Amino acid sequence: MADWERGSNMPAIQGLSKTAANYRRADNAKFSCRECKFMFPRLAIGGCRYVRGVIHAEDVCDEFETHRPRTDASG
Ligand code: SF4
Repeated sequence: MADWERGSNMPAIQGLSKTAANYRRADNAKFSCRECKFMFPRLAIGGCRYVRGVIHAEDVCDEFETHRPRTDASG
């Protein structure tokens, strides 16, 4: 990993293959590309800032991150 990548909270643009990201069909729609902040546009089929290739809204990978703002009321 290059120095500029370390400590960055943004992924390298489309730096991952689907295999490396463990891209797969999502078990839970709440944790699918449709709900992930890296998918664009958030339609049935789109792209991902992280993973190369065609991205399906009902799939997911290990890099999933919700695009919904977190409410930090638990602390
Ligand atoms: S879950 Fe993975 S493949 Fe899907 S949009 Fe997010 S980062 Fe991309």
